[in-house]
Amino acid sequence: MRLQGLQIGRNEPCPCGSKKRYMDCCLNTKYLITYNYNDQAVLIDKNKINKNLRKIVALNTSLNKFKEKSFEGKGIEVKIALDYLKKLYDIIDSSLEEVEKFSSCSKGCCACCNKYPTATLIEVKYIKEYLKNSLGNDDFEIYIKKLEDNSQKKICPFLSESGECIIYEVRPFACRSYLVFSDPQDCSNQDNEPLRFSDAILDLAANVVEKLSVLLKNTDSKYTKTSIQ
Ligand code: SF4
Ligand code: SF4
Ligand SMILES: [Zn+2]
Repeated sequence: MRLQGLQIGRNEPCPCGSKKRYMDCCLNTKYLITYNYNDQAVLIDKNKINKNLRKIVALNTSLNKFKEKSFEGKGIEVKIALDYLKKLYDIIDSSLEEVEKFSSCSKGCCACCNKYPTATLIEVKYIKEYLKNSLGNDDFEIYIKKLEDNSQKKICPFLSESGECIIYEVRPFACRSYLVFSDPQDCSNQDNEPLRFSDAILDLAANVVEKLSVLLKNTDSKYTKTSIQ
């Protein structure tokens, strides 16, 4: 699914339901990317998405200045990498706000959390920092020990008993970008492939997240994503 999306005739009724012609309504301002399981047209703001895409491109380009330094033997500082990561998450969240309105995902709906999420090195550091700050050092150690003891469980360790993500603010990109338009029940059914939002903006963002970990580790080998475990 790419943002250029589905083609509709200019004279056809606008999929937003306004009863106007498409050319007189959403043609120039919205991308029609698909229809969700309620048969609602998923229309997202072209301007906002394109602006965010440019922001991610700029972020990606500005990371190049660290490349040389990194390959000289110094990885970039964690603090700098975290600043980049936070900026990236802000852009992603702002872009996904558009898409969320049409997605089937909601609070407490969590079949997608029945596994350990994947994360890159910098994302793991961000989650650790967050947990340390919110729990305090001693409780953090206890918590990590508990996670290790429970590591055989298939479910994500950050899912609370009431079905909420306890690290929601700092959840990794893999979770952040996981939005589906299909019936939520498809997410619990192994035979069904949920209809997920995927786009160039997410591909580029995934690239930046991986690049940050490469720069941090001071290596030119591609940093492969790992289970958060
Ligand atoms: S991905 Fe599926 S299970 Fe997860 S919140 Fe969305 S609809 Fe619910
Ligand atoms: S980190 Fe949060 S959103 Fe991601 S799988 Fe775990 S509970 Fe779900
Ligand atoms: Zn319209």
